[in-house]
Amino acid sequence: MTDRMNISRRVLLGTAGAGAVAPFVLSGAASAQTSQPQTSMEINHAMPPETNRFKLGDFEVLVVKDGARPSGKPGETFGTNQSPEAVSELLQKNFLPTDQFVNSFSPALINTGSDLVLFDTGFGEQGRESGNGRLLEGLAAAGYTPDDVTVVVLTHMHGDHIGGLMEKGKPAFPKARYVFGQKEYDFWTDEKRVGTPAENGHKAVLANVKPLAEKATFIGDGADVVPGISAIAAVGHSPGHMIFNVESSGKRLILTADTANHFVLSLQRPEWEVRFDMDKAAAAATRKKVFDMVATDRVAFLGYHMPFPSVGYAEKLDTGYRFVPKSYQFDI
Ligand SMILES: [Zn+2]
Repeated sequence: MTDRMNISRRVLLGTAGAGAVAPFVLSGAASAQTSQPQTSMEINHAMPPETNRFKLGDFEVLVVKDGARPSGKPGETFGTNQSPEAVSELLQKNFLPTDQFVNSFSPALINTGSDLVLFDTGFGEQGRESGNGRLLEGLAAAGYTPDDVTVVVLTHMHGDHIGGLMEKGKPAFPKARYVFGQKEYDFWTDEKRVGTPAENGHKAVLANVKPLAEKATFIGDGADVVPGISAIAAVGHSPGHMIFNVESSGKRLILTADTANHFVLSLQRPEWEVRFDMDKAAAAATRKKVFDMVATDRVAFLGYHMPFPSVGYAEKLDTGYRFVPKSYQFDI
């Protein structure tokens, strides 16, 4: 009885015989990477990573899925000041599982006509073992070589954003200039980080970001990156976290980076504390301010950890905001 049920279950799941047809399969295996319970994600490397391309006025935006990571206990990341019951209730109401969540990682390349501007670089080499770090593959699938990128902008300097800056000890985008936030750079390169929880981040910035500093412009709130793209300080997630306003021929997109990192928990309850936000109160205040602007102005946003392709709108609710994924708005 049990055996027969197992066989029919395998057949139903498509894992018997010819193999899985899904591009990836979630499994329950544990990973030792972080203290959080993790599951592994099998990637079908025969397929290029997902990409999504759309027009924004005279600009063209290409979003690349650097990877995705399943993790356990959503509340321990996105509701650290909430009861597990409150977190589960909100997840259930939104048709989501209560025991696991998936974070995706979405660097974006914007073709302005005169520049190819890359925002963040994914995990790079250190993510490949777990199926991430696929930015270069995604760019290649869309017809770009690393040499084509003319500007690399960092929204902030956490590992999932700076990992892809270097490849085999050399700059991954050899012809690019860089745009770094001054405040963010100063924080992570400061030797005072040694012996603190930020020490690993400090080492990663010394290895991946500092070698590129001589080719970098250091910016702050309000600075222009290239015509049509400007920085807005949005601190809290990290000390110098920045978001970017992108405008071309009357069309507008805000790259919100890591202002909100779960499309339900952090948008519908922006005040809930998030484990990865370094200044939790400032991050919550920034979330409200940024998504109030996005909702009021009815502009599209691209959130680095939103479900791929990570672009959508925010509708203001009584508490928080509802994520409305883009559909054909940019195609007609
Ligand atoms: Zn991130």
